[in-house]
Amino acid sequence: MTGPVVELTGVSKRYGDVLALSDADLRIDHGELLAVVGPSGSGKSTLLHIMGTLDRPTSGTLHIDGYDVGALTDRQLSVLRARTIGFVFQQFHLARGVPAIDIVADGLLYSGRSRGHRRRAAEQALHRVGLDHRMGHLPHQLSGGEQQRVAIARAVLGDPPLLLADEPTGALDSRSGGAVLELLRELNDGGTTVVVITHDRDIAAALPREVRLKDGRIVPEVRQ
Ligand code: ADP
Ligand code: MG
Repeated sequence: MTGPVVELTGVSKRYGDVLALSDADLRIDHGELLAVVGPSGSGKSTLLHIMGTLDRPTSGTLHIDGYDVGALTDRQLSVLRARTIGFVFQQFHLARGVPAIDIVADGLLYSGRSRGHRRRAAEQALHRVGLDHRMGHLPHQLSGGEQQRVAIARAVLGDPPLLLADEPTGALDSRSGGAVLELLRELNDGGTTVVVITHDRDIAAALPREVRLKDGRIVPEVRQ
């Protein structure tokens, strides 16, 4: 694939009198693995919500996979989002009392696919994240790291080209956090563009590219 998967041009986002994101320019190419790093309140989640098309910019333009998001209706936008973007959050957001395989399979609930197809796809996704032996487990029977891997399996189910992860290791101990980062690297090796949002400078420094945010502004990148 050619061209950027995400391109922001002069994007600002205002919440009331808070300018959460200010005049952001950012281009992310297919196949990148990058960190968006900055202290709490610097606008990281705002940027993720905009890149994820969960929230529209107050001003500026956003292209996702070549599409001008501002020109799409909400319905067209949900189709683009479903096809293009997977999300992972700090809290895993897994339905209580539902086995891992069904949590993942339910990601295809509105795809028109049969239950058998959805379950087979879910098995493959759980295999990809190394949870073959935990398919029937309920969320409370899984460790935090395993729960996050279920959430990642759900996010990559339709093989979206872009994965956005907001503080994916924020609720994990350092060992499980490391395993989750390793998994994100593997997915990137497989071709998925991965954006890791983090306030942890060590995590950011270990990734090939760092985009820094400060008070809602992107700090110019120093490239080697
Ligand atoms: P980060 O993820 O880096 O901690 P956020 O993007 O969540 O930062 O927030 C950036 C700024 O925007 C903060 O000052 C926050 O209080 C404000 N903000 C974020 N979301 C909202 C909202 N829905 N309404 C009002 N203010 C918000
Ligand atoms: Mg945040």
